[in-house]
Amino acid sequence: MQTENLEKVIVIDFGGQYNQLVARRVRECGVYCEIESFKAPLKKISDRKPKGIILTGGPDSVYSAGAASAPRELFELGVPVLGLCYGAQLMMHLLGGKVGRAPEREYGKTELMIDAPDSPLYDGIPHQMTCWMSHNDSISVLAPGFEITAHTGNCPAASLECREKKLYAVQYHPEVLHTSYGKEILSNFVCRICGCSGSWKMEDFVSGKIRELRKKVGDGKVLCALSGGVDSSVAAVLLSKAAGKNLTCVFVDHGLLRKGESELVERVFGPEGPYKLNFIRVDAKERFLRRLAGVCEPEQKRKTIGEEFIRVFEETAKSIGSVDYLVQGTIYPDVVESGLGGESAVIKSHHNVGGLPEIMEFKGIIEPLRCLFKDEVRRAGLQLGIPEELVMRQPFPGPGLGIRIIGEITEQKVKIVQDADAIFREEMKKAGLDRSASQYFAALTNVRSVGVMGDERTYEYAVAMRSVDTSDFMTADVTEIPYTVLKTVMTRIVNEVKHVNRVFYDITSKPPGTIEYE
Ligand code: GLN
Repeated sequence: MQTENLEKVIVIDFGGQYNQLVARRVRECGVYCEIESFKAPLKKISDRKPKGIILTGGPDSVYSAGAASAPRELFELGVPVLGLCYGAQLMMHLLGGKVGRAPEREYGKTELMIDAPDSPLYDGIPHQMTCWMSHNDSISVLAPGFEITAHTGNCPAASLECREKKLYAVQYHPEVLHTSYGKEILSNFVCRICGCSGSWKMEDFVSGKIRELRKKVGDGKVLCALSGGVDSSVAAVLLSKAAGKNLTCVFVDHGLLRKGESELVERVFGPEGPYKLNFIRVDAKERFLRRLAGVCEPEQKRKTIGEEFIRVFEETAKSIGSVDYLVQGTIYPDVVESGLGGESAVIKSHHNVGGLPEIMEFKGIIEPLRCLFKDEVRRAGLQLGIPEELVMRQPFPGPGLGIRIIGEITEQKVKIVQDADAIFREEMKKAGLDRSASQYFAALTNVRSVGVMGDERTYEYAVAMRSVDTSDFMTADVTEIPYTVLKTVMTRIVNEVKHVNRVFYDITSKPPGTIEYE
């Protein structure tokens, strides 16, 4: 899907750890940017008319057999290219330089001495600064036409350029915050060297996307599985602007949503809501509970919920008649996680719609948010006027509360966890922690123990509260919730939620724990 006439930079992905950051930094410079796999054909890249190309880092060694590569002609498009780490090594390798095992590898913060302060890449940057290094290989012979523009103690060719051809290569990682002027260096590349205006804003993305989708969809019928989560909500509203009444949203209520959530989704997206979507809510609570009876093993639960979801969605879709396009709320981290590398047409087996395309026939899949990060999706959502309550909500798993209940799922347990969770959320908000904690919720342990309430013996469940702080959801720390808040939550839960006589606060970090509690 093209975003025409938009000033853009293309980042070519060689599998490095920080690739997501590269794209994000470029957008922070006010320049729209998309990621492509190194496997993408050259024509696909040149057709997009990028103002600049950035080659990322990567785990391979350029001289090894089967190493990720790029066509040499990439450097002859007349478009400025910046190679980062592996990208820099590859540029040298392809243009006639030499790369080998570095006599001393560099990892971490390293002093960088700039040898060519007049380089456009280093405009306004101090002559000595800290950079972040992470490499085993290094450039030993420069390609013809290049000169060294910076070095470090162990790395004589820490940055190079062929100014007249607008080719730049840096061994360090400007995208990482540890590189002290990294953002300025990237901005020098995209604005000064590539000539981008740096005026891109989320509004431009939203309006451009709507225009593009209108053209693509035409009079076709579009179907969207709405979960009420941030991504599918934003995707649905974008499509509604492009396809109007030709869009139908199907919301499968599996009965495992948080308290009040199903009503919220209907209020916002239903026929009475601001978007007046063709909205079908399927109340499938009974079906899911029946299928889940006796299922205790967490993976089995996820599978059961996923399969039943597809079945319900499929049945509903059939009742609508023929459909041309299916909308998916895939966002960039999903693309990366499923290893699709940005250019593939394969569809991630998303919890909501996995497997569906095999059963149903479509002209195509539409993934309008495929190149955005979560916070960018949120910004697009606010731009589209979706209520903050929905847009800023915390991540919620597709299988819902089903994976926040240990052991068998029953109607009674779902009710306990919904009520306890609602209290916890309310108190977190009162304490002003709702925005700072990354994810927090109540879960139901399968433990029952003896307690005493009103002088009477009880034998009831224990609820677990969990709250974590994280920026990337790969690792997480427990939130240091003040004791008074924890105590208030405990008191309210045991008083207000039937069948609970104990409350725990889970203080496990990730690793060794996971964020969810299943
Ligand atoms: N694999 C290459 C090296 O070790 C590049 C590393 C990187 O891009 N971070 O030098």
